[in-house]
Amino acid sequence: MCGILGYTGDRQASDILLSGLAKLEYRGYDSAGIAVMNEGKIKIEKNKGRLKALEEKIKSSGEGIKGTCGIGHTRWATHGEPSDVNAHPLWSDDMSVVAVHNGIVENYREIKNMLANHGYEFYSQTDTEAAVKLIDFYYRQEKTPLRAITQAIKKIEGSYCFVLLFRDYPNEVWGVRKDNPLIAGQGKGESFLASDVSAILQDTRQVYYLDNMDIVQLKKGVVRFFDTEGYAKHKELSEVTWDAQAAEKGGFEHFMMKEIHEQARAVKDTFRSVFHNNRIDLYEHGLNDEAIKNLSQIYIVACGSAYHVGAAAQYVIEDLAKIPVRIEMASEFRYRRMPLDKNSLAIIISQSGETADTLAAMRLAKENGIKTLAIVNVVGSTIAREADSIFYTMAGPEIAVATTKAYSAQLIACYVLAIQFAKVRGTIDETYYEYLIGEIQKLPEKIDEILDEKERIREVAERFVNSRNAFYLGRNIDYAVAMEGSLKMKEISYLHSEACAAGEMKHGPISLIEKGMLVAGVMTQKNLYQKIASNMLEAKSRGGFLLVVASRGCESLKDDADFVFHIPETDEHLSASLSVIPLQLLGYYVAVARKLDVDKPRNLAKSVTVE
Ligand code: GLU
Repeated sequence: MCGILGYTGDRQASDILLSGLAKLEYRGYDSAGIAVMNEGKIKIEKNKGRLKALEEKIKSSGEGIKGTCGIGHTRWATHGEPSDVNAHPLWSDDMSVVAVHNGIVENYREIKNMLANHGYEFYSQTDTEAAVKLIDFYYRQEKTPLRAITQAIKKIEGSYCFVLLFRDYPNEVWGVRKDNPLIAGQGKGESFLASDVSAILQDTRQVYYLDNMDIVQLKKGVVRFFDTEGYAKHKELSEVTWDAQAAEKGGFEHFMMKEIHEQARAVKDTFRSVFHNNRIDLYEHGLNDEAIKNLSQIYIVACGSAYHVGAAAQYVIEDLAKIPVRIEMASEFRYRRMPLDKNSLAIIISQSGETADTLAAMRLAKENGIKTLAIVNVVGSTIAREADSIFYTMAGPEIAVATTKAYSAQLIACYVLAIQFAKVRGTIDETYYEYLIGEIQKLPEKIDEILDEKERIREVAERFVNSRNAFYLGRNIDYAVAMEGSLKMKEISYLHSEACAAGEMKHGPISLIEKGMLVAGVMTQKNLYQKIASNMLEAKSRGGFLLVVASRGCESLKDDADFVFHIPETDEHLSASLSVIPLQLLGYYVAVARKLDVDKPRNLAKSVTVE
C-alpha cells in the first residue's frame, strides 16, 4: 500500500514530489524515491527508510535534482525486503521506462520467465520490476506509451496502480490503475497524479477520480484519459472540499474508521496472495503436503488482538483439520516449561512483526526444534526474518493503535491454513473445500454490507457514553469475537469491559451485572444459539441491556434483546470476520461520543517492543 505521485508543470518537480510524499507517508515508509526528467535524461534518487533520509541525501548532494516533470513513491513492501535496490522508482535496462507502483503483480514470476526468454535480467526482488520491464517490452514493439500500457495491462494480474515516465516523451507522466487508488489533479499550467488528494491539496482542489482500468496522460496543465483499448475517454472534474487533514484520512474523521473501511480490501488481498489457479497454494510458505500430514499439534502464540485471532482459529483448525491446537499468550508461553511436541507447528501472529513477547516466544519454539510459521503484516520485520516460514497479511500499514484491518487479515490467513490443512489431511472433501473458498471470497462484500448499517451502531453507542462497565459474551468462535469486541471497547473508550465465555457467567462474573449495564452477546453458531440466549437472559433478569450481534436467521432473542444487529450469513467457521465488525464500530462510536483520542488511546503504543 504505497504512496505514489506524479507531476508535470513549470516548477521544480523534486520540491513538489518531496512535499507531496510527506502527506502520503502514512501509506508506507519502508523506502522513498523520486525520478525526475531533464533534457532527455531521467535521474533517480531513492533509499531505504523514511522520506527524511531521501530529502537529506538530495540536499547534501549539493545541486539537487533539476527538472519539471517527475514521479515519486513511499513504499510499503510486499515483495522483497525494504532496501535501497527494492525501493521505487524501478526502471527498464536502458532507462527508457521508469515507474512507481502501488499494489501486487500476482503473476510476476510468469512475467519474469517470459521476459527472461527475451533476454531480460532482473536486479530487484520486487514484483514491480517485472511489470516495468513488461511495459518496456511492449514499448519497444509498439513505440507509444499508450499502446505499451494497454498491451501490458492485458497480461498483468493482481492489483496495481502504476505511474510512469517514458524517456522519449518529455514532460509527460502516464498512469493506470486497477483496484488501487489514483487521482489526477488539474492546476494552472501543471498537473498531478497521486494516491490520494491529501498529497496535492496545497496545489489544487480540482481533481479527477480515476475508475478502474482508466489510463491517464499528464502534460503541463492537461489531463487526458483513455480506456483499455486506447480510446479517449471523457471524465468530469470535481472540486475537493475537504481540509488537508481530513484528506489524509480519506475523508474519515479518524484513521481507525478509515481502516475499518479498508477491511474488505485487506481480506481480499490477503486471500488473493495465496490463491492461484482456483486453489490455495502454500508452497511459498514452506508448507508442503508432507509437512502438513505429519503435524500432530499446533501452538498458536500471540498477544492482544492477534491472540484473539488465534482463539478463533483454534476452533476453526480443530474442527476442520482435526489437529489439536493450543492457543498461548506469548508473554506466558515464553516462561512456561511445558513439554513441546516435536511434530508440531508454532503459528506466530503479530501485526508489526516486532512484538517483543511474541518474538521471544518464537525463539523459544525454535530452540526447542519446533517449526515456526509467522503471520505478519510488516515485510522484513524481525519476526518475519527469523521465522522458518512466513505468511504476509496484506492489510497495508495500520496507523490507528486499535487494530481492525490487520486483525481481519490475520483471520483470513488462519482460515486459509485451516482449510488447506483439512484438505491435505482428507478431513474435508473437494466440494466443501470449494464451498469454503467461495465463502471466503464473499466476505469482503458482506463486510461492506455491515458497514452500510453503521449508523445504527452509532445511535445505540450513544447510550453508553456514561457507562462504567460492560460484558461481552459468546461461546466457541463467538467467545473469541467477544474477547476482541471487549478489547476494542476498553482500549479506546476506557470503559471497563470484560469478555466472558457465556457459560462461565454464573460462576462469578454475573454478580457484577447492574441495571442498564451493556451486555453484548455474539450468536453465530447455530448449535449454541439457545445456550447463549439463556445466558443473556440471565443477565437481563439482573438489569443488563442486551445488545446482540447475530447471524441473519437467528431469532433466539428476538423479543428479549434491547438491540439486535444481524450480520449476513456465511459458513459458521468464518463468522468472526463478520461478527467483529459491529463490535469494532461499537467501541469506536462510544469513544467518539466520549470525545476521546480514538487513534492514539492513552497509555498504549502500536507496536509493543517491550516485555
Ligand atoms: N509490490 C510492490 C513492492 O513490494 C508495491 C508494494 C505496495 O504497493 O505496497 O514493492
